[in-house]
Amino acid sequence: MRRSIAAVALSLLLLSGCAAEDKEYSSSFFAMDTYMTLTAYGDGAAQSIDGARAEIERLESLLSVTDEGSEIYAVNQNGGGTVSDSTEEIVKFSLEMAERTEGALDPTIYPIVSAWGFTGEEYRIPSAEELSLLLERIGYEKALLENGHITLKDCMMLDLGAVAKGYAGDRAAKILKEQGVTSALLDIGGNVQAVGCRPDGSDWRLGLRDPLSDGLLGVISVSDLAVVTSGGYERYFVGDDEKRYCHIIDPHSGYPADNGLLSVTVIAPEGAKCDALSTALFVMGAEGAVEHWRKYRDFDMILVSEGEIRLTNGVAERFELRDEYSDIKLVIIE
Ligand code: FAD
Ligand code: MG
Repeated sequence: MRRSIAAVALSLLLLSGCAAEDKEYSSSFFAMDTYMTLTAYGDGAAQSIDGARAEIERLESLLSVTDEGSEIYAVNQNGGGTVSDSTEEIVKFSLEMAERTEGALDPTIYPIVSAWGFTGEEYRIPSAEELSLLLERIGYEKALLENGHITLKDCMMLDLGAVAKGYAGDRAAKILKEQGVTSALLDIGGNVQAVGCRPDGSDWRLGLRDPLSDGLLGVISVSDLAVVTSGGYERYFVGDDEKRYCHIIDPHSGYPADNGLLSVTVIAPEGAKCDALSTALFVMGAEGAVEHWRKYRDFDMILVSEGEIRLTNGVAERFELRDEYSDIKLVIIE
């Protein structure tokens, strides 16, 4: 089911502009259940943006859980199947990230996401008994991928929603770079992929959304990096019990993540990695996220909780807190 524009308000708002004399080409469209805007500068911008958009639409037609013509839909209906190189690549990557995050990211989560009604917006609170039965169908370790063939046991079903937009951003950025574009900003439904820097050579400036309001907490300056945010403030529902339930599920319990984190932003060169990690770290909670960062140190992150922002030292110098939020405690993770 498609959602309204208001419901897909971006977590990262683009603050960048460019000198008027630069050739700019922009394309906005709806794909992967969200609004996307791809903007490139310089010669060849139009052609490369059209190519990037076509690639995103091709990936959506392969990876959607709801499109009856997609490869993932067929795999989910048939308990497996042989898939294209692109689908194989993203499933392989998702399974590797599931292992790295000890199942905080789990691409086999679909039966539980579906039981909560997050696909189709028919929200409900499943009973504890129902969730415990569904948990038996979840488990990335049981999903097999060999020579492009996926095998799913126990009525398992894949959901690549936590990584597909990041992967699509990487593919789109690759197309632009191959066509000689050195300055572009790809906004893939709140996942931002910066190709090079702004046309005047300065960094792109991205606004970090306050999860508790429509305001901006601060500004992140980046070039040639992906910036991806996961949070509980956009896709959620309020149950009859007045509690708020968000779309990011803890695969160990079957319940929406509820650990005090309001949003997690991950910054690294690869969009797919940022997307996988932002979801997984949101599930882990602040302490688990810090532990994960200390173990790998191959990304930067900003963890937002009420009254506090924790950020890794690599991003601290790229982040400016806005004056209105000067009472928020900033903690640098080292
Ligand atoms: P992220 O944090 O990146 O991902 C959260 C999403 O991942 C959840 O919505 C859920 O789908 C899944 N998920 C939740 N918990 C976990 C976990 N622990 N491990 C792994 N995955 C988890 N939405 C619709 O309502 N209808 C559609 O028809 C539809 N089609 C789509 C087609 C494609 C190709 C893609 C990529 C997305 C589509 N979506 C659709 C949206 C999708 O269901 C997710 O809501 C969206 O991708 C969430 O992205 P995010 O950046 O907000 O959050
Ligand atoms: Mg994600």
